[in-house]
Amino acid sequence: MTKKKSNTNNYQIPKTMKAWVLGGPHEMKLVEKKVPEPGQSEVLVKVGAIAVCHTDIEVLHHGHPAMIEGKIPFNKDFTMGHEYMGTVVKTGENVDEWQPGDRIAVEVHAGCGRCAKCREGMYTSCHNYSYRSKGHRANGFTTDGGFAEYAINNINTLVAVPDHLSDEVATLTVTAGTAMYGLDVLGGLVAGQSIAVAGGGPIGLMFIALAKALGAAPVIISEPRPDRREMAKHLGADFLIDPLAEDPVEKVRDLTKGKGVDFSVEASGVPIVVNQILHMTNRGGKVCLAAFANGLTPTDLAYVVSNNIYMFGIRGEGNSAVRRAASLLEQKRFDPSPLHTHTFPLEEADKAVSYAENQTDGAIKVVVKMN
Ligand SMILES: [Zn+2]
Ligand SMILES: [Zn+2]
Repeated sequence: MTKKKSNTNNYQIPKTMKAWVLGGPHEMKLVEKKVPEPGQSEVLVKVGAIAVCHTDIEVLHHGHPAMIEGKIPFNKDFTMGHEYMGTVVKTGENVDEWQPGDRIAVEVHAGCGRCAKCREGMYTSCHNYSYRSKGHRANGFTTDGGFAEYAINNINTLVAVPDHLSDEVATLTVTAGTAMYGLDVLGGLVAGQSIAVAGGGPIGLMFIALAKALGAAPVIISEPRPDRREMAKHLGADFLIDPLAEDPVEKVRDLTKGKGVDFSVEASGVPIVVNQILHMTNRGGKVCLAAFANGLTPTDLAYVVSNNIYMFGIRGEGNSAVRRAASLLEQKRFDPSPLHTHTFPLEEADKAVSYAENQTDGAIKVVVKMN
């Protein structure tokens, strides 16, 4: 690879751009905004496509988990959206790792790089979360995100997109990275081990696809919606459970000679399911809590203790997991394209969010594609 001086490029970059910003709660509006300048260790990305994530919907209605300098992002001209891909069009000072023209997908978090957690590699748990002035960035949460024509990214948040992936499907790289991070946190040794996933949303389905790609067996999904169970099957689930028609704990035990699975993943955010997932897990097994449960969640902790079960909460896509998920995508080890169900232009990003929120017309991953 030849190294190039910074800031050289052939792209015509306008002074202003179209961007969606948060007004007050429940309000997103399309405005004309200044195209930002990349600083040190940063690049300017021309956004190609962006997927709506469930967390975007939380941000739209409640502000949290997005925070800007410790405050919620309403009425701050803030652009949400974190699952995007695009092209590097300008590089900041000292950047020679990426060049204008590089086709990239992004991960969300660039930690501050100076707190103890960042120094341990746990940049999604940065102690300076939301403090841009201390160097922290989490695009779409603490710094402007991708529902816009252009976005700034720290170079640490970029991964190359293989040619065979469409723009729409490339937006799912970060979703795959989240599932990859969850499997990492569980120890990563899933080949030949059993896994159950509760919840067939995009993250749960991505866990299914990755676990299968990495050799887990059997791979089990518990999900009430038939179309999502079918999608799980398509992505590699060996057994499908409808938790409204049968007891998912008993069913998992039946499928695992009465013992429960080695690994389990809670990806539904439904409080009672958290308890179910604990009871699906084998002695000494590991549980990944991957969804934000609403409110306090009663759980049988005595069962966890007496069965030596390990529980792990994950946030985002740490540990450079996005890079490794992107490698699996490049190797064609799994195909997330069925998750992408709908596409809208930038002007209709509000409609895209509403489709994702209401799961209109069977929507799973709704993508906004730039013109
Ligand atoms: Zn997301
Ligand atoms: Zn930090």
